[in-house]
Amino acid sequence: MKDKISLVVPCYNEEAALPLFYQEADRVTRDMSGIDFEFVFVDDGSRDGTLSILRELAERDKRVRFVSFSRNFGKEAGMLAGLEAATGDFVALMDADLQDPPALLPALYKAVTEEGYDCAATRRVTRQGEPPIRSFFARCFYKLINRISDADIVDGARDYRLMRRTVVDAILSMREYNRFSKGIFGWVGFKTKWIPFVNVERVAGETKWSFWKLFLYSLEGIVAFSTAPLAIASILGFLLCVIAFVFIVLVVIKTLAFGDPVGGWPSMMCIILFLGGIQLFCMGILGQYLAKTYLETKHRPVYLVRETEEGVK
Ligand code: UDP
Ligand code: MG
Repeated sequence: MKDKISLVVPCYNEEAALPLFYQEADRVTRDMSGIDFEFVFVDDGSRDGTLSILRELAERDKRVRFVSFSRNFGKEAGMLAGLEAATGDFVALMDADLQDPPALLPALYKAVTEEGYDCAATRRVTRQGEPPIRSFFARCFYKLINRISDADIVDGARDYRLMRRTVVDAILSMREYNRFSKGIFGWVGFKTKWIPFVNVERVAGETKWSFWKLFLYSLEGIVAFSTAPLAIASILGFLLCVIAFVFIVLVVIKTLAFGDPVGGWPSMMCIILFLGGIQLFCMGILGQYLAKTYLETKHRPVYLVRETEEGVK
């Protein structure tokens, strides 16, 4: 029996990059003889010509399948839909912009078939071509999240990876609504080989990630994979109690020794504002977890499909 590899490719407004991606992926996969391939493109509610390109590809090449969403649900939803639709013994996740070079596929495949790994993942070794401030925050984020969560999240890891069916099924068994793949991959464990490669710029089109979006995404990751921030309220509360107690003792002693001079209005204002700030901050953290719990309990579908290669649903 031939092995079958499914390539899962989430695409959002990728009309410029898709033809180039297909060309390159087609070349690489034809070179890997003895293996069946399947392309699972996920059109994440694109507003450009992505869907019509996919229809055309599916028409032309029987290996091409696609899932098209009813609207933009985000890359996480796209990856989930692709993994669910994939039928291969191995599944590779990759971006449509050729930042995840298909040329690495033979090396990834070799790692899982010959070297005894369950999963071969890629990480970029440099953050070249990225604004320094973004690299700085990215590094801080990885340090922080690895300290406060038990999912092993590797700095510089891309979503580009090839997994055995067992690993795919493990990932699919995590039914959470708020999906943070970097955390999910780390959480399921399994033997992973890390293959470093030098970062490449996207071939065409534009990145969908602004600094602000990345920042919010990192907060999602923290809320999804750690409950440490919830402890902040208790720690701050305890520290403030200790400080307050010391102050009370000082005030009592001062009053007994020097009488009761009225004053201290400015300091009072500072303290009230400071405490108010801390209280709101902690309530905000609590709110974040509550909001996520609220969304989880609604059990909404992660994505809705409008069309596949078999036609409109
Ligand atoms: N993507 C998606 N849905 C989105 C945003 C992005 O499916 O809402 C896809 C996009 O088409 C690409 C991959 O996710 O294939 C990575 O996106 P991008 O290149 O913009 O991210 P970057 O490489 O800059 O991190
Ligand atoms: Mg990219």
